[in-house]
Amino acid sequence: MAFDLDMIKKVYDRYSSRIDAARQATGKPLTLTEKILYAHLTEGNAKAAYQRGVDYVDFAPDRVAMQDATAQMALLQFMQAGRPQVAVPSTVHCDHLIQAKIGAVEDLNTAKDINSEVYDFLSSVSDKYGLGFWKPGAGIIHQVVLENYAFPGGMMIGTDSHTPNAGGLGMIAIGVGGADACDVMAGLPWELKFPKLIGVHLTGKLSGWASAKDVILKVAGILTVKGGTGAIVEYFGEGARSLSATGKGTICNMGAEIGATTSIFGYDEKMAAYLRGTQRADIADLADAVATHLTGDDEVYSSPEQYFDQVIEINLSELEPHVNGPFTPDLAWPISKFATAVRENGWPTALEVGLIGSCTNSSYEDISRAASIAKQATDKGLKTKAEYTVTPGSELVRYTVERDGYLNTFEQIGGVVLANACGPCIGQWSRHTDDPTRKNSIITSFNRNFAKRQDGNPNTHAFVASPEIVTAFAIAGDLTFNPLTDTLTNEAGEQVMLDEPLGIELPIKGFAVEDAGYQAPAEDGSAVEVLVSPTSSRLQLLDPFAAWEGTDIKGLRLLIKAKGKCTTDHISMAGPWLKFRGHLDNISNNMLIGAINYFNNTADSVKNELTGEYGPVPATQRDYKANGIGSIVVGDENYGEGSSREHAAMEPRHLGVRAILVKSFARIHETNLKKQGMLGITFDNVADYDKVQEDDKIDIVGLTEFAPGKQLTVVLHHADGTEDSFPVNHTYNAQQIEWFKAGGALNIIRRQQHA
Ligand code: SF4
Repeated sequence: MAFDLDMIKKVYDRYSSRIDAARQATGKPLTLTEKILYAHLTEGNAKAAYQRGVDYVDFAPDRVAMQDATAQMALLQFMQAGRPQVAVPSTVHCDHLIQAKIGAVEDLNTAKDINSEVYDFLSSVSDKYGLGFWKPGAGIIHQVVLENYAFPGGMMIGTDSHTPNAGGLGMIAIGVGGADACDVMAGLPWELKFPKLIGVHLTGKLSGWASAKDVILKVAGILTVKGGTGAIVEYFGEGARSLSATGKGTICNMGAEIGATTSIFGYDEKMAAYLRGTQRADIADLADAVATHLTGDDEVYSSPEQYFDQVIEINLSELEPHVNGPFTPDLAWPISKFATAVRENGWPTALEVGLIGSCTNSSYEDISRAASIAKQATDKGLKTKAEYTVTPGSELVRYTVERDGYLNTFEQIGGVVLANACGPCIGQWSRHTDDPTRKNSIITSFNRNFAKRQDGNPNTHAFVASPEIVTAFAIAGDLTFNPLTDTLTNEAGEQVMLDEPLGIELPIKGFAVEDAGYQAPAEDGSAVEVLVSPTSSRLQLLDPFAAWEGTDIKGLRLLIKAKGKCTTDHISMAGPWLKFRGHLDNISNNMLIGAINYFNNTADSVKNELTGEYGPVPATQRDYKANGIGSIVVGDENYGEGSSREHAAMEPRHLGVRAILVKSFARIHETNLKKQGMLGITFDNVADYDKVQEDDKIDIVGLTEFAPGKQLTVVLHHADGTEDSFPVNHTYNAQQIEWFKAGGALNIIRRQQHA
């Protein structure tokens, strides 16, 4: 943690000069978002960023956080960089691989057993390279980050889409792919499209059943799942200042559901109180000293429409509790309209399970508010009708709420406490159901409710609400119940109402924990051995990719001419393949199996030019590789759209594909190809796509004079002896050309380390 404090001091030290320079250059007051972004520009990049003269800007994030599923490939790649330690403070969190089935203790033991090789690898690689390691059971990445690492005015990237949770403590925190995490840990800059700015002005104050969750449920209804795309959402106003830091975290967390790059609140007394409550008074003191830099300028907040691209007004005093769903988090229903919506749409009224917790809603305040409802069930003689589960976000919260009696309260109404992990939120839920074909309803305090997300069952109608509303519904067992207005019949046959929830923002006796589950890295990791079994099917150490041979590339075989959409899912499918995301050779067996072959309109069936037979894409490519023959993939428009999954670039590289020639690239995939030392080129004339024939031998000419902005030439040698030749474009800058020549960006870093 001392490491972090020094780092935070350095960040704050440069705030004044950076913000002054930005105000001068832009000639206007600044939003908080701009202040943080400008304070994290890499050197030499500022002018273009101030003028918004470029789309993509290089930043230097302060830290990296990774969850266990995505950390594997990020760290396997990082090992290639040859650095003795990560360049910025980084942590790994074991939360995604624990399946909820019976209860916390049993489920955790099972997970440790079946995932031991992954955990051993992550633990040893963290130990060696200076990363903090949070063991299975320690908690969910975003809750642990909020409790330990987030700080106002900082910038973090995390390999999980709900990384923006740290915006609750005033941090620009953005979800990225493993390749980006690897780059930042290796000391490379990180590129972000300069975002649009959406301001949300919160007035008034929450009361009664309304909670911070209802703010984001309402915002999701306004902006929909796409409305935040490419934008950072900045919350401000007296209403924002009235929300607890963890409540702010809930709002920022679920901002991922509107597609926002991230969401953020300005530094205020609630954040200071949370920092002090979580043993970080030293950080609160540092933040207090630069507090004016850690919020937007007054002029911005008094005339927000002049400075934000869009402004939304929400009066917290008038905000109703919301229930969103089913199947999408932006279908927002104020509680007063929800029962009618359930009846009119024919959604199953009987509620089968209520689930509270997750990284979105498992703060002390959340648990105490939900427990205040649960306790009433016991006190008022009500029997809980639905199953009810509780997922604490971290061991710190779990230990503290157990000490304060809340877990006991939940257990008294039949609640099952699950491990401090993602569990049902990510579908790691062995749900007990007698008939999966039955349409059924569940309600959670999580963030996502797409079909099959929680239990893999398309018949499950999942709704999202605050933990206290979920608890009230679980007691009632009926989705047409409105806890604000309706009565329930208790065991004595009396009509009783639930009182409004009461919560406590921070534990009166302070947080407590016996073993938070943290493993600090070795002071000197040079002697630590990274544990990867050579026989593992889930993990495989990487070998550096070969450098360019220094000549034009000739005689390539066409692996596939992909027709139509070819997303990263078509290139590297998810689902059952995810278990191999730490094993490049095994996951490469899914390479391009979803792409449609132009010549036979079939997926995963291409002509092997060595045998003349049609076979699966990966097997065909392996045959070429075994025979020392390079190949090329040809594709259509926007090739590689979708996720930032680095496997989609690494797999073809690993199996010996030399170039990807397409009509156009999705930008992130194009960058990922460059980082892996692949050649990504585009037709100058898209009609040349039609000239590529199945049996062609293909040359790429001009590589010995490879230079920014200079076209290359592709020569097609057709089977009938004729030839076609045409220019192709590329977007490699000088640095990226060096990546290509070296066989990948990490090869260059490794060379520099050893220089
Ligand atoms: S609890 Fe859910 S939303 Fe949070 S990190 Fe885990 S899977 Fe993602």
